Amino acid sequence: MRLTKFYLPVMKETPSEAQIASHRLMLRAGMMRQEGAGIYAWLPLGFRVLKKIEQIVREEQDRAGAVEMLMPTIQQADLWRESGRYDAYGKEMLRIEDRGGREMLFGPTNEEMITEIVRAGMRSYKDLPKLLYHIQWKFRDEVRPRFGVMCGREFLMKDAYSFDFDDESGRRSYNKMFAAYLRTFERMGLKAIPMRAETGPIGGDLSHEFIILADTGESAVFCDKRLIEMPVPQKDTDFDGDLQSIVDQFTAHYAATDEMHDEAEFEKTVEEENRIAARGIEVGHIFFFGTKYSKPMKAMVAGSDGKDVPIQMGSYGVGVSRLVGGLIEAFHDDDGCKWPMAVTPFHAGLVNLKAGDAETDEACEKIYRELEAAGVEVLYDDTPARPGEKFARMDLIGLPYQIVIGPRGVKSGNAELKRRSDGEREDIALDAVASHVSALVRDALVYD
Ligand code: ATP
Ligand code: MG
Repeated sequence: MRLTKFYLPVMKETPSEAQIASHRLMLRAGMMRQEGAGIYAWLPLGFRVLKKIEQIVREEQDRAGAVEMLMPTIQQADLWRESGRYDAYGKEMLRIEDRGGREMLFGPTNEEMITEIVRAGMRSYKDLPKLLYHIQWKFRDEVRPRFGVMCGREFLMKDAYSFDFDDESGRRSYNKMFAAYLRTFERMGLKAIPMRAETGPIGGDLSHEFIILADTGESAVFCDKRLIEMPVPQKDTDFDGDLQSIVDQFTAHYAATDEMHDEAEFEKTVEEENRIAARGIEVGHIFFFGTKYSKPMKAMVAGSDGKDVPIQMGSYGVGVSRLVGGLIEAFHDDDGCKWPMAVTPFHAGLVNLKAGDAETDEACEKIYRELEAAGVEVLYDDTPARPGEKFARMDLIGLPYQIVIGPRGVKSGNAELKRRSDGEREDIALDAVASHVSALVRDALVYD
């Protein structure tokens, strides 16, 4: 992508309304623009990150055996009356009336709708188990939308739903999502720790929040340090096999959010040197709630004895748009973002220090073509801006590698390669730089 074609409205000044790094950087780097309280337009740079996160989430859901679908954003109030949540949900729900006077709402979540969908299509225990998911925008009229995409009103969520015949099978589905989440966040470069959590308005008794540690997080969390080093399930994990040992391994150590925290138990079960009391960002939340929706909404299947029983259900959310902010909180410095390769908007930036100079242009164009041909996503700064401005902009948007080429380099036959994560620089021959960078990108994207 040529920067002259792209739309990258970077800001020089720090926006005063932004209190945390990710919010500031997303605005400054031209990733998004606020269009209302807690409502954001995703500009091209931010949208690329959002799509990559979404794709990792999708791949790991698919690997775990979940099946993708898409439900609408707008729902009918009557559906929510069946579960009893229409009144219970309160002011967080955005209520709408259509031209016929029918009460509608912008979905804050989809338990009711998915229950309605499966009760129409599932008849027998033989139709179970099933795991369905979608990645769709939600609206919650949060009291205090803040911190940019971290707590928005309109936000993108992956929500999956499990359907099982009995409690035991339901817990197996829960374990699949538990294991899938460990992989999902790790692939993005994040350590998300599953913590005992309250079930809140979704209901049920088995629930974990997946939390990444960050000083700017909204929840106070308490956990055993050893959880951070715990290896996550490998690519070849059999998701149809028994995953209980994986779940047991993670839940054996203390980890709880403040609502569920028990200080006495924490002190008793975790040695002092292993205790972490920190702040965290909730990036995922899983629940097993049995028949909470299937019973009132009469989503039943016949067992082998022919008797109807309500389906056992769970729901499993990932904050896809929140993760963009969460990743920046985890990976940035004073100059800007420092994207991990798996989610970066482009793998590399190519900086032409003297656009308009025939020889420099020619060298850059050649490397640009080579990189694109090798499948490297490259943002080519072909603008006439001054070098200082170009360097600052590249650091701000935080691509993992910067390839810098100017008239002096062309003369000596070298490009300068800078690694954004630690600022390390090296000179690489112009005719070798594209293959060198493409190998670095390829290696960084291998994930087992
Ligand atoms: P929180 O209390 O952290 O706002 P929640 O418990 O209300 O979240 P869930 O219903 O569990 O949210 O939703 C699943 C996931 O969706 C959360 O783990 C979070 O990552 C994301 N999420 C929830 N609310 C928002 C929001 N207002 N803005 C962005 N992401 C959100
Ligand atoms: Mg939650």
